[in-house]
Amino acid sequence: MGIFTKFRKKSPWILHYNTGGCNGCDIEILAALAPKYDIERFGMLNRGNPKQSDILLVTGPVTKRCRDVLRRLYLEMPEPKVVVAMGACAHGGGIFRDFYHVENGVDNIIPVDVWIPGCAPRVEAVIDGMVEAVKIWEKKTKEKEFMRNHSNELLEKLGARNDD
Ligand code: SF4
Repeated sequence: MGIFTKFRKKSPWILHYNTGGCNGCDIEILAALAPKYDIERFGMLNRGNPKQSDILLVTGPVTKRCRDVLRRLYLEMPEPKVVVAMGACAHGGGIFRDFYHVENGVDNIIPVDVWIPGCAPRVEAVIDGMVEAVKIWEKKTKEKEFMRNHSNELLEKLGARNDD
């Protein structure tokens, strides 16, 4: 296991992006970060840089103005990465569904791994969703490690390896 992977496994970093919601979901995220719930005890850190983040936490309906930014943030994150869509708006637009300025749910723009239901979701639901996201992220990390360590072996077995 690479040393960076070993450390990353202990502490996934989170990138939070509001694509145009009412901030109700964001207040619940702040509550999860506050000492009472202290989500950092699971090793998660809220970071503002996509290139250093492992989990993308999206709130709000995807407005047309935020669509390209969301896609770019997702593409800038290193693999493996996990996307969490939080709240009714992120699911399918919620109360903003089919408004002239929204693209509705997050999965219309990027793939979503975990859904956190509610409007706004309770802090317990946020923590539950993020713990699920970490599990998925760890699984993806193991798969990536396996593929990196065994890719040549697999290619040889398939007769597809070419060292020329
Ligand atoms: S799900 Fe509810 S609380 Fe969250 S952004 Fe939408 S309207 Fe606001």
